[in-house]
Amino acid sequence: MAGILAGIKLKSAGIENFTIYEKASQIGGTWRENTYPGLTCDVPSHHYTYSFERNPRWTRHLPPGPEVQAYFVGVFEKYELTAHTCFNEEAISAHYHGGLWHLTFASGKTDEATVLIMASGVLHHPKLPDIPGLDSFEGALFHTARWDHTVDLSTSRVGVVGNGSTGVQIVSALAGKVPALFHFQRTAQWIMPVENGHFSEAEQLSFEDPETLRAAMNMPEYLASVEAYTQALIDESSEGAKSLGDACRANLEQSVLDPVLKKKLTPSHQPLCKRLIFSPDYYQAIQHPSAHLVTESIERIEATGIRTADGVLHELDVIALATGFDARAFMRPMTITGRGGTNLDTLWHDYPKAYYAISMPDMPNLFMLNGPNGPVGNFSLIDISEHQWNYIWQLMEPVLSGEISEVCCTRDALEAYEEKRSEAAKQTVWFKGGCQSWYLDSRGIPASWPWTYGDFTAAMARPDWTQFETVATG
Ligand code: NAP
Repeated sequence: MAGILAGIKLKSAGIENFTIYEKASQIGGTWRENTYPGLTCDVPSHHYTYSFERNPRWTRHLPPGPEVQAYFVGVFEKYELTAHTCFNEEAISAHYHGGLWHLTFASGKTDEATVLIMASGVLHHPKLPDIPGLDSFEGALFHTARWDHTVDLSTSRVGVVGNGSTGVQIVSALAGKVPALFHFQRTAQWIMPVENGHFSEAEQLSFEDPETLRAAMNMPEYLASVEAYTQALIDESSEGAKSLGDACRANLEQSVLDPVLKKKLTPSHQPLCKRLIFSPDYYQAIQHPSAHLVTESIERIEATGIRTADGVLHELDVIALATGFDARAFMRPMTITGRGGTNLDTLWHDYPKAYYAISMPDMPNLFMLNGPNGPVGNFSLIDISEHQWNYIWQLMEPVLSGEISEVCCTRDALEAYEEKRSEAAKQTVWFKGGCQSWYLDSRGIPASWPWTYGDFTAAMARPDWTQFETVATG
């Protein structure tokens, strides 16, 4: 998504001398790699597009994964980016010297670039759980981002480990469609109710008119809801925090009547502490007669199923590991070495960091889209990337025009920014809400944007050049 955005923006600025490197044989990132049953984006469809390339043809209020993938493929083709893209090229290193980034790929290919844009995603490397016996299972076992479509689920007893957004979507899709479904929950999650109706053919046709689509998107109300949401994350006493929390509690209260099941599904942490899950039907799904919520902790995986701490063996044909991703990898395992031998692993020895999620000291002309500690939340990362591009472009334009030869943030700028950001992050519900989540860095401090959406868009409007060091063209 972010690499395509960079390509489109460069072309629209009249720059044709660029290459997009993609390690797979197709574009799509998250939406290419995730193909699990029920895959849905939880951002409203019409808002989950580039601002300059709206899509009137979404079939549902929340975009189904395959439609998102088709959208990106369509945009990629429309903007004729194929000629700029090298597929099946996995970058393994980037070293800066002589005013250029020198890139090496797993294939042995090399390239050089004045400006390097990292658009390699956030949640990318699947995280396998440290459950003993993973290799001993004789059925089909896979991470949810590596779904095995050769397995016939209709005759399978399926176990899903994990109840983040992924696990919840899969259980909602499979309940009643497989002979037996076991959902292994380590920590209960708050679930926000959401509508996910269909757009009729007539509605989709009417959205071909940009004015009708704009009206349907209700931009002021949507932006107000995003602002209220981010306010809720940083201020537990805010109106938004109260109304979101109340909606989650009422959803559980009204949807689950069995007191034993309700107790199992009741989290001990505050709503929003973990990434909020939006689901129209999880509580209905888990109450289906063939669905079973398992809250006993997993002891081990055996040849025929999952054994829990109470000694029960849950016999299974398929185990889907919805256990998330390594949120601290970013472009790693690439080796990245900047000016004076500064390398990424040293710079990130304690945790990943970048000035405004975009620039790093001694990494001249290297910019990140969706870099560390940026605003990853329940709103559109496409929108976030567009704002980040606006900021990046202002930094790189003087390099491309030859006005300066290098730009990156200063060490002091990053240090001061990180201190301020970390302090603010300690005031958020991710920190104070009493839970563990992938938002927390190795210090236990939320690795995210701890201010509002409005603060983010304001920050991205223009760089503060006093925080950057530049080298004049020699
Ligand atoms: P996740 O939120 O990191 O959830 C991982 C789940 O696996 C948690 O329930 C965790 O339990 C459980 N788990 C991990 N190790 C375990 C173990 N050893 N034993 C038992 N349970 C274990 O991962 P995800 O659901 O794939 O979602 C990741 C992110 O992707 C989301 O937060 C979201 O940003 C994005 N996503 C978005 C959408 C969307 O609609 N836009 C859909 C899917 C994913 P604990 O809670 O106890 O740690």
